[in-house]
Amino acid sequence: MYKIKEIFRSIQGEGYNIGKETVFVRFSGCNFWNGNINDRTNAICDFCDTDFKGVDGKNGGVYNLKELIEKIGIVWESSFTLQKKLVILTGGEPLLQVDENLVNSLKEKKFLVAVETNGSIESKIKFDWTCVSPKDPKRWLLRRGDELKIVYPQNKFNLHELISLDFKYFFLQPKYNHLKKLNVNKTIDYCKLNKPWFPSFQLHKTIGIM
Ligand code: SF4
Repeated sequence: MYKIKEIFRSIQGEGYNIGKETVFVRFSGCNFWNGNINDRTNAICDFCDTDFKGVDGKNGGVYNLKELIEKIGIVWESSFTLQKKLVILTGGEPLLQVDENLVNSLKEKKFLVAVETNGSIESKIKFDWTCVSPKDPKRWLLRRGDELKIVYPQNKFNLHELISLDFKYFFLQPKYNHLKKLNVNKTIDYCKLNKPWFPSFQLHKTIGIM
């Protein structure tokens, strides 16, 4: 069974696939924060603003494989796009729950299957697109993929060393806290001087969509 916080259709607001219409499947739970606001200052991600706790979001619930595939199909069908079907498995930390059966079943339904993970769980599952956004160097196991995304500014990772890893694209994403504006400028300045880092802005937050 899969515990799902929410399933919704939107556009991908960040990273390489920005602008693409997508079904997002947000898995419940994360191994870097328990989701309680009162505990966030002590969590690895003290900036996290994602609600991944429980199963009470839009289309949330506890699903078996068949039910989940059907639901994702229904959510996509409400789209009129001609673009290839894209599903992004996210969280929380999706790799706490995602398995090969789910990914293969989605591919059989002609979905391109992308995952967004904090990289703390090794996986041999063949996704069509893997975005790794590590938050803790000591717990970072999945060190390859399509897209590496680092929240900026930060002092945990050596950005010069990271670009030798096996990723196609390298993104810096401004930290969205009370210094957001400053962080955006710092991110742009760093990327101007340090290729192949490229800024990734959270478009969905800027234009106010999910
Ligand atoms: S890994 Fe991602 S979802 Fe989990 S607490 Fe950190 S930022 Fe939030």
